[in-house]
Amino acid sequence: MKKKIATCVHNIVPAVIREMSLKAAAYKDVISLGIGEPDFDTPGEICQGALGDALAGHTHYTPSRGYTDLIQELSLSIKEHSGLELDDSQLLITHGGMGGLTACLRAVLEPGEEALVPEPHFPSYGAQIAFAGGEMVYIPTNFEDGFILRPETVEKALTPKTKILIVNTPNNPTGSVIPDQVLDDLAEIAVKHDLLVLSDEVYDRLVFKGRHESIYTRPGMPERTVVVNSFSKTFAMTGWRLGYAYGPDWLIEEMLKVITYQTSCASSVSQRAALAALRADQGQFEAMWREFRERCDLVFQRLKNMPGIRVHPTDGSFYVFPNITEITSDCERFALDLLAQEQVVVVPGGAFGPSGKGCVRLACTVNKDRLSEAMDRLERFVRRYQG
Ligand code: PLP
Repeated sequence: MKKKIATCVHNIVPAVIREMSLKAAAYKDVISLGIGEPDFDTPGEICQGALGDALAGHTHYTPSRGYTDLIQELSLSIKEHSGLELDDSQLLITHGGMGGLTACLRAVLEPGEEALVPEPHFPSYGAQIAFAGGEMVYIPTNFEDGFILRPETVEKALTPKTKILIVNTPNNPTGSVIPDQVLDDLAEIAVKHDLLVLSDEVYDRLVFKGRHESIYTRPGMPERTVVVNSFSKTFAMTGWRLGYAYGPDWLIEEMLKVITYQTSCASSVSQRAALAALRADQGQFEAMWREFRERCDLVFQRLKNMPGIRVHPTDGSFYVFPNITEITSDCERFALDLLAQEQVVVVPGGAFGPSGKGCVRLACTVNKDRLSEAMDRLERFVRRYQG
């Protein structure tokens, strides 16, 4: 039979990050800095909370928006962390941060409409935009600028078909944080050109310099911004697949329709886990934050002394994104050879868009001893590579 596959699905290339992990399975004693998830297990009290609630009967469909007590607790937590007062009608619970991205893009994009995506970027944006029938338009950034988006490049990319701008701070894969002034300028552009903004803030609690700032707080933005967030990174809960989004109630209402007909609701048990996470002692998550900061610093300090490597400190997230163009222009070959010769997994930067070529992404998601060992192996490899 002729393979009858929708073009928007057929055109998706397999995720490089997962491919690297599959290749790594052929080697022994691999140190994987490949996949972007906390290595910590979900704290026991969160698992216990979910289990207890499941045993007490929280095993049914929930409201599509999410359990009311979870929405209320989340609202309090958002107020505590960012000072925002949200009405319950502005919030909804999603199937991971990914579920918020899907629901937002599906709710707003008409076929052929353009979504502006600063790159390097979280690879799933491209597929999500394509599923919604939209077109992804790249906004390049570069290593020399610390991968900070220049507002003028956004303005240059605007066309009559532009509908939405995606911003991601702290950024995966670069570890950069958008400075306050740039957020101000981007907000002005969005207001001036009547753009929607999808602000992906899943690393908002992993900021190492200053405090997290959201474009949502800028003048004119609450009526046009959807903030997507997740329990995955902050609470070490990637497998529970739970996230949330907030924005103007008219847009959240439309996203709710997408969720209702796509998944009915997020998993009931995971929602109970999220509630337990919000009520848990927050000190343990601050300890994770400290650990990620120390690891990113350790990697930065080691990389900056390696020949041919240029690197910026990580301002947020748990990624380091060094530039290796003085060593080679082929970052994929570099990553494959590093795996074959030293059994360290890194992700070639081209997986995150054209501006990522020349870099590799290291996720600091192994403990400091293993990270130091990975840096020893990388240094040996780099010195050999350069003869
Ligand atoms: N946005 C960014 C920037 C991410 O890095 C990720 C996950 O890696 C997500 C969204 C998706 O989050 P979740 O795993 O909660 O779906």
